Amino acid sequence: MIRIEHLTKNYGSVCALDDVSFTAEKGEIVGLLGPNGAGKSTAMNILTGYLSSTSGKALIGGVDILSDPLQAKKMIGYLPEQPPLYLDMTVWEYLNFCYELKGCRMDREKHLKEICDTVRLGEVSGRLIRHLSKGYRQRVGIAQAMVGDPKVMIFDEPTVGLDPKQIIEVRNLIRGLGKAHTVILSTHLLSEVQAVCDRIVIINQGRIVANEKTERIANVVSGNRRFRAKICGPQATVLQTLLDMPGILRAEALPERDGDASVYAVETEQGVDIRKKLFYLLAERGWALVGLEASGVDLEDVFLSVVDSSEQSGAKRAPRSARKTRKGKETAEQTLGEALYEEAARRRKEAAAEKSEED
Ligand code: ADP
Repeated sequence: MIRIEHLTKNYGSVCALDDVSFTAEKGEIVGLLGPNGAGKSTAMNILTGYLSSTSGKALIGGVDILSDPLQAKKMIGYLPEQPPLYLDMTVWEYLNFCYELKGCRMDREKHLKEICDTVRLGEVSGRLIRHLSKGYRQRVGIAQAMVGDPKVMIFDEPTVGLDPKQIIEVRNLIRGLGKAHTVILSTHLLSEVQAVCDRIVIINQGRIVANEKTERIANVVSGNRRFRAKICGPQATVLQTLLDMPGILRAEALPERDGDASVYAVETEQGVDIRKKLFYLLAERGWALVGLEASGVDLEDVFLSVVDSSEQSGAKRAPRSARKTRKGKETAEQTLGEALYEEAARRRKEAAAEKSEED
């Protein structure tokens, strides 16, 4: 549904996007994640036809946004970071205005009412937008993106400035929309992509450094996979069997039990899926595998561990001009680590400031 091919954007001597390619299919929510200055807004602006690219293509439903912007834009609903709301209109007036602006030809009343129901704006549809809370205004922003029933929805930092309850509501809404639409969501929040997206495209300094299903992204960044396995059988022998199994890097018995099963933490080599082999091996030995779950390495932890390792190695941020010549995943991941190092340092500073305020 969305196909970005070798997109490059230079602002004078600054290369904001450097040969970026990725796709998003129908029913998929793709998160564009990266630190500030990574090139997310530039990518979104090109995708929505607000900006031209230096080279490369952006196709929406097969239509090139640059060569046929009108046709392509009909398929896009866009929620910019600052939604273009008219504060002196009521919600209903504003949605009607958007309907006309988009030149829609539908059963207007029914269509707009459905949208209000979906984003739960019904009870405030007669109120001036000026009098709505930030959370409601964001819903109005989402509603305007839905006018005309576009197949593609693009959200730029949709939860910035919202309180935790509003964040959950907006994320639920986006998840709901993702069932029937193709959704691209830009954010600098790891938790957001983890909570909402099916696929994550990580962009850093204008380049894609990871493009993976959400559940697999931790492997891409961390390299290894971790599981918690619950196995019934003699603990020491089971543990030795795990340690001897090809593909397993580490295994340890945890101080927990689940009924008559012992719990083990297992870490596998990168790219090795041991699940089936483990199941058959244990079955052969007569030990029941009663649970196997990926242990919750959350993305934030993974990123922080990348950050910490780059901190320990004293890595220095690559100069911006140098990145034009670097190639290869290793370097890109290292650079991501370096960018995240800065983010982590900032967060530590904030946490320290908060703590000293508390003290
Ligand atoms: P993000 O949305 O991830 O924060 P942007 O796409 O806004 O990143 O910016 C990517 C890079 O391009 C940054 O280095 C930014 O300073 C630069 N940039 C963005 N817009 C312009 C512009 N109009 N002119 C010059 N440089 C720009």
